[in-house]
Amino acid sequence: MLEDKIKGTIRDVIDFPKQGIVFKDITPILENPELTSEITKAFVSKSEVLKPDAIIGIESRGFFWGLLIAQAMDIPFIPVRKKGKLPYKTISYKYDLEYGSAEIEMHEDALSKGMNVIVHDDLLATGGTAMAAAQLVKSQGANVVGFSFLVNLTFLDGEQKIAPFSNNIISLVN
Ligand code: 5GP
Repeated sequence: MLEDKIKGTIRDVIDFPKQGIVFKDITPILENPELTSEITKAFVSKSEVLKPDAIIGIESRGFFWGLLIAQAMDIPFIPVRKKGKLPYKTISYKYDLEYGSAEIEMHEDALSKGMNVIVHDDLLATGGTAMAAAQLVKSQGANVVGFSFLVNLTFLDGEQKIAPFSNNIISLVN
């Protein structure tokens, strides 16, 4: 099963980025072209039914499959980046982290009113990051028709935070 293959390839890194955190390192998957491609196909088949006009990928691990999915579906890929990284005029959204806050941005002309998009990232934890990206989408008059993640850390209840934007939450590993 694909879920088992992904689980067996992800590397748990203890105490990264700080003590007490077990970080899910997805980079070993990227070294396996066959598995990477299988994952893209799984995302595409689950995303197709939502008929998105674009895929929004969140910096930086959301870029890996975000672009692959968008390419396979022949639709635009739109990057959401940390503040100060995008060169053109941007819109931004600030959100709270466990300690402090973060701010993400999107180019102001990346979306137009009424567009339907999927917000994609590698991993859903508390949901704060995906929710912030969804807020950026909404502020442009576009719609979030779904979210997709390689991994959903279900014990953190991130789904609760993003469900008000869309109940269509695709995750390949829970
Ligand atoms: P959240 O905002 O849902 O709490 O955290 C999700 C964001 O943090 C995603 O952008 C994700 O890339 C990153 N993240 C948090 N924990 C992990 C982890 O264990 N592994 C990976 N690959 N990313 C993580």
